Amino acid sequence: MTKRDILDWLSTPEPERESLYRQADEVRRTHMGDAVHLRGIIEFSNVCANDCLYCGLRRSNVALRRYRMAPDEILDVARRMAEWGQMTVVLQSGESPSRAGDRALGELIARIKRETPLAVTVSVGNRPRGTYAYWRDCGMDRYLLRFETSDADLYRRLHDGGSLEERLACLESLRALGVQVGSGFMIGLPGEDLDRLAENIYLCAALDLDMIGIGPYIPNPDTPMGNEPNAWAAAPEMFFVAIAVLRLACPTAHIPATTAFDAVFPGRGRDLALQRGANVFMPNSTPGRYRRDYQLYPNKPCVDEESGDCAACVLLRLKAIGRTIAIGPGHSRRNTAWASTVADSRKKNPGPSNF
Ligand code: SF4
Repeated sequence: MTKRDILDWLSTPEPERESLYRQADEVRRTHMGDAVHLRGIIEFSNVCANDCLYCGLRRSNVALRRYRMAPDEILDVARRMAEWGQMTVVLQSGESPSRAGDRALGELIARIKRETPLAVTVSVGNRPRGTYAYWRDCGMDRYLLRFETSDADLYRRLHDGGSLEERLACLESLRALGVQVGSGFMIGLPGEDLDRLAENIYLCAALDLDMIGIGPYIPNPDTPMGNEPNAWAAAPEMFFVAIAVLRLACPTAHIPATTAFDAVFPGRGRDLALQRGANVFMPNSTPGRYRRDYQLYPNKPCVDEESGDCAACVLLRLKAIGRTIAIGPGHSRRNTAWASTVADSRKKNPGPSNF
């Protein structure tokens, strides 16, 4: 797989795109099967210390009512997820590091692992390696941390001076700790061309990721980038071309049909993504009263529903496209070495008392 291959696929002319989609769907079926893994997201806090230019949760956005869910409230949801077919809980929040908060998150992970059969994915941003190790020893199975763009200058401009190098170092730490690693990028950040899109996909392949989440960049009017349109706004089919090429480049990665696809193609975006390379669906399991305050971008779907409604809806959507729900946690298909590394470490480290 070379950048040239990726670029050639991305350049597929419009009349041949259905054939590209069919190829991606076949690769997905061969390597990942027809069953779709459900990973329920709990957006447990919208507090963020960062000021990323595109994001509705940025600290300068005063239009938001900030919240933090209590651990017992999060556990109440997690305890019901297995009956909804969601065998992974994704704990997601803004980036707000503190020793007390990070310790509390570790204790929550340990309780979820003790009290439910769920795999635990965490997505709360950059942290030192020691914190990731602590969470792993508490039971964390996976970590999601998107690099968002492979352009280091653009990364710095978008992320309040933060560096791509630091983000990639976090991914490297997680990988070295034996945690299953997910990353990805936004499709169509301002200025993106086919070369940059190819670079982004190539970086996903080079990082040898277990999970890869990509979704359209959607300008948020409550941010400084509200007037900067998606680079592919006039050709939104490129979002699906990107996911199809990603599947061809990374045949054994878990690839979610991300929520942002539904924001651009209401009611069908995620279904189409599942038919063009994706194999994971991430229902929103955040209690309904918090959802309006976790809008990274406008027109985010499912913000009016009570917790549980998404669980019912996803079953109907999967049935309509002839897919089933996967049984089991859906761990990485590409690397099983992590399992023994983590088991060894957990034996040596008692977890919460060690942080
Ligand atoms: S992208 Fe993440 S770190 Fe940046 S402002 Fe949004 S929630 Fe915070």
